[in-house]
Amino acid sequence: MPDNLEQPVTTALGGDHSGERKLKFLERIYLPEIFKALWYTLKQMFQPKFTMLYPEERFDPPAIFRGRPVLVEDDGQERCVACGLCARACPPLAISMQASEISDDPKERYPTFFEINMLRCIYCGYCEDVCPEEAIVMSKDYDLVFTTREEAVYDKSRLLQPKEELKERLDYLREYKNRQFGKFWNFDESNNIHSVRNRDKRWETSLSLVEMIEEQRKEGNQQPDQERT
Ligand code: SF4
Ligand code: SF4
Repeated sequence: MPDNLEQPVTTALGGDHSGERKLKFLERIYLPEIFKALWYTLKQMFQPKFTMLYPEERFDPPAIFRGRPVLVEDDGQERCVACGLCARACPPLAISMQASEISDDPKERYPTFFEINMLRCIYCGYCEDVCPEEAIVMSKDYDLVFTTREEAVYDKSRLLQPKEELKERLDYLREYKNRQFGKFWNFDESNNIHSVRNRDKRWETSLSLVEMIEEQRKEGNQQPDQERT
């Protein structure tokens, strides 16, 4: 039998713990600490209030705030091209979608359904970080209410928000991503493939996407370095 099984077991409550600080008399009766706490509470009563009477008064978060993720609606349609990157990056697997193709639209791909299970979402913002189209962003919505599990699954009709309503966040992202990647990537809405394809007049000249990107690259290489930084 191992030696240690024959040793008496000491507990936290028993025994003499050498090095333990002994409480003084006033500390043992707790009263001074109670009065200190009451004094602190009394002082706070006369400080300016920073609480809000929610829901009558609502908190308007700054652009850096990460509320529920939403899909960006641009000119009446979703920007999303159903590439699936957000679903792949989502840690709790909250996103699901099905892609489809449309031949007569420059966007070519779109999600036939796109759902986010808000019971799973942890508001990490990874979906927003990886999206190459600025098609999913974190909104300012923070008060989500559902009474059933089915209600917590948001479909496209509840996820889509016009880009005008998300301007603050999109501007913030552009500034934030530019600061991180701008030197290498020049992150900008005009570099968003979907935006290029929808807005660039050259699309009307029926250039293929690959040709358009090559043209853009050539133009970028011709620009002096100062302009790009
Ligand atoms: S915020 Fe995070 S958890 Fe929520 S859908 Fe996006 S990636 Fe998933
Ligand atoms: S990463 Fe963006 S474009 Fe790709 S599926 Fe998600 S929301 Fe759509």
